[in-house]
Amino acid sequence: MRNTQTFSYHSHTTFSDGRNSIREMIRHAKEIGFTELGISDHLIVHKNMFQCECWKYMQSDRASHVYNNNFKDILPAFQRHCEEIRKIAKEENFKVLVGYEVDFFPYDGWLEELKEFISNLDVDYLHSGNHFFCDDKYENIINMTFIKNFVTDKTLLNEYIIRHFDTLRQCVESKMFDFLAHIDYVRRYCGEVYQPNLYWDEKNAVLNALEQNNVALEISTKGLRRINDFYPDALLLDAVSERNIAMLINDDAHYTSELGADFDKAEQALKDHGITKRFKI
Ligand SMILES: [Zn+2]
Ligand SMILES: [Zn+2]
Repeated sequence: MRNTQTFSYHSHTTFSDGRNSIREMIRHAKEIGFTELGISDHLIVHKNMFQCECWKYMQSDRASHVYNNNFKDILPAFQRHCEEIRKIAKEENFKVLVGYEVDFFPYDGWLEELKEFISNLDVDYLHSGNHFFCDDKYENIINMTFIKNFVTDKTLLNEYIIRHFDTLRQCVESKMFDFLAHIDYVRRYCGEVYQPNLYWDEKNAVLNALEQNNVALEISTKGLRRINDFYPDALLLDAVSERNIAMLINDDAHYTSELGADFDKAEQALKDHGITKRFKI
């Protein structure tokens, strides 16, 4: 018996940028004593995806096939993916939830297209996962991984960060998502411009939106593997503890070996920050 949370709702398969198949992820979840698994491959659609300046860098990224420029073309593949997960879950006799990790791009028409797309899919939940900086009309996007190739001016980067948190707020207020993933993901990419003690007007607005819209927040152990700290950091966890916000532990597993990783440390962090309200579907 595990004495930590017995599920993850944030995991990837080879359908997006994960390295293991649906069946391998499910079998491993069973092996480590999970009682259920949420598979949430990326759903990333922006109309200018292949025109944005950043695309030439993203193409060389191993995960380039996860990026798309319209919802209609990819619907059949996503429908097959949902069916496949349901079928394998049945064969493996294991509770599996179907979700997607969605990058939120609120340019005119995007949200309506997302809603239409989701209405044609057999999904259990959605969570956000924003990996792009956007201009003020959300027309041009820059993958955070490559932000340093485009923005070196600190004042400009500051504006991108402010807009990013405002995007997260809008994302929560759209009521399309069950939980918000890696709220302070910007930490990994913005060098000294982003500091945990900054951007509190913006972060408080996101946290207030979570509370008001009853949307949960993940604590991600992926941060431990990438920046040696959780997403969210300790200051954000303190701010969460002062609000009525539910949290869940996620591993953002891209490999079987990452399932359930460091959940004991995350349990301890929640305890240390006095966070008791937990999210479960
Ligand atoms: Zn993500
Ligand atoms: Zn993810």
